[in-house]
Amino acid sequence: MDTYTYSIGNNLYLNLTNRCSNRCTFCVREGKETYEGYALWLRGGEPTAETVIAQIGDASRFGEVVFCGFGEPTYRLDDMLKICTHVHKTGGKTRLNTNGQGSLIHGYDIVPLLAGNLDGINISLNAPTEEAYNAVCRPQRGGAFRAMLDFAAACRKEGLNAWFSVVDCIGAEAVEACRNLANEVGLPLRVRPMIE
Ligand code: SF4
Repeated sequence: MDTYTYSIGNNLYLNLTNRCSNRCTFCVREGKETYEGYALWLRGGEPTAETVIAQIGDASRFGEVVFCGFGEPTYRLDDMLKICTHVHKTGGKTRLNTNGQGSLIHGYDIVPLLAGNLDGINISLNAPTEEAYNAVCRPQRGGAFRAMLDFAAACRKEGLNAWFSVVDCIGAEAVEACRNLANEVGLPLRVRPMIE
């Protein structure tokens, strides 16, 4: 059965879509349909906001409610915002894990819509240059690296609690170059271990 919401630790994770504008070489879904025993590849289609809201219930039970899953959550922007409203109404906190291409995907700047709805935004940086990004993330749209950086800069300008993340497997030198790039944009960088 398809998994729309799943718990890890004290957090609840939401899996709204299979769609993604990248095909990262390190993605947990490469060649897999499950993660941590959850069937995250949605075979029966995307869930409605109402279905996900019903599964969340009282969001104050969780540390954070995180838009994550097997695809890029901003493809479901409208439903994501409905879910954020519910989470906040029931005393919870929201976080978005994103590849930062939401504005590129939608063709307009989505950042103003995120203000007040997301308590944290984790933007995958993954590489310090466009060339390296294209090799590792294999974006489906041209200009993805630039669009991701513009999205991040827009989050900073909007005063959102946003940060970049990289996986440690890219190596110390690349991590340092990512840190410099993050500084230029004006957001913090968090380095996380690779998830197998
Ligand atoms: S952006 Fe995220 S979901 Fe998309 S391919 Fe990369 S790691 Fe996977």
